[in-house]
Amino acid sequence: MSAFELTATDGAARAGVLRTAHGDVQTPAFMPVGTKATVKTVDPDELRALGAQIVLGNSYHLHFRPGEELIAELGGLHAFMSWDGPILTDSGGFQVFSLRDTLLRSDDDGVTFRSVYDGSAERFTPELAARIQEQLGSDVAMCLDICPPAGVPRAELEQAVRRTTFWAQRQRDLPRAPGQLRFAITQGGLDTELRRRSSEELATLDFDGYAIGGLSVGEHRVPMFEATSHATAFLPEPKPRYFMGIGDPEGVIEVISRGVDMFDCVLPTRTARTGSALTFEGRLNLRNARFARDPRPLDESCACPACSRFSRAYIRHLVTQEEILGIRLLSLHNLRFLIDLVCGARQAIERGAFESWRDDALLRLTPQPVEH
Ligand SMILES: [Zn+2]
Repeated sequence: MSAFELTATDGAARAGVLRTAHGDVQTPAFMPVGTKATVKTVDPDELRALGAQIVLGNSYHLHFRPGEELIAELGGLHAFMSWDGPILTDSGGFQVFSLRDTLLRSDDDGVTFRSVYDGSAERFTPELAARIQEQLGSDVAMCLDICPPAGVPRAELEQAVRRTTFWAQRQRDLPRAPGQLRFAITQGGLDTELRRRSSEELATLDFDGYAIGGLSVGEHRVPMFEATSHATAFLPEPKPRYFMGIGDPEGVIEVISRGVDMFDCVLPTRTARTGSALTFEGRLNLRNARFARDPRPLDESCACPACSRFSRAYIRHLVTQEEILGIRLLSLHNLRFLIDLVCGARQAIERGAFESWRDDALLRLTPQPVEH
């Protein structure tokens, strides 16, 4: 039985269910990022209450601290972090290639780099990336890929596509954790021909799902969304599609409208740590003095633990005084806001009204002029 079932489509937008060893994920789904086995400042019970269905863990960081063997010894990542729902782990490829000044050598066999923890020379191969994720016991494992930054010469993009396919072939049948799904990652940057090649080559290998990698790496938004359309068009319809690294409300809506089923980003929690809230009035920077006497919640339409009890004025006070509760409340709010937004998209797809829902949501998300 296939792990993914499409339940509704509306234009290119899709609703479905991804079945994993730790439960079902209703898609489209936003995946909060728990880089180091924690979604920063948020308890797993709180995550569940926010409506999070699946969280993301990071092989690169967990490999170095505390190490996959230690986590396996303590029962795997689910037990270690006390989250019994689905977990997706990335392969570490994005970290290795995005920290360009730590990259030492990349060849057909693997990639050598300096660890961000202690500067020691380390090597990742497709086999090691698979082994780390088998030990972590995640529900969805990602293939190690080559992820070049935006603007590299075509020859470099082409080599990334070739090597990513070669590595995917090596990873496809490696040992997995019980019930673990494995997704391949397509590359090709903004180049339509390379996107097609990457997607088609990987599709023939029949993975459980496909990620769109190598986007959201510093390029402009319009060509990025065009490339997303190309990437999804070349992927097999019955398989889930995961856009790696998008989490702003507008961006999430744009990729859903292009046929993406899953996405992740640190944006909601990172934005919280800068003192900002995602709202239907645009992004609010709570450090702004205009909130000093504002009795309203962060967002009138939000039912999160922050909005149900606290005013903007209070959260602004916490943020300006660098009280930890301020970051926590903003993290809870931002995650809930995004999860609710994606849930709204799903419902709109199911009733065949996605386009009007999308236009309305994008209009509401546009910041209104502020009166001073
Ligand atoms: Zn809220």
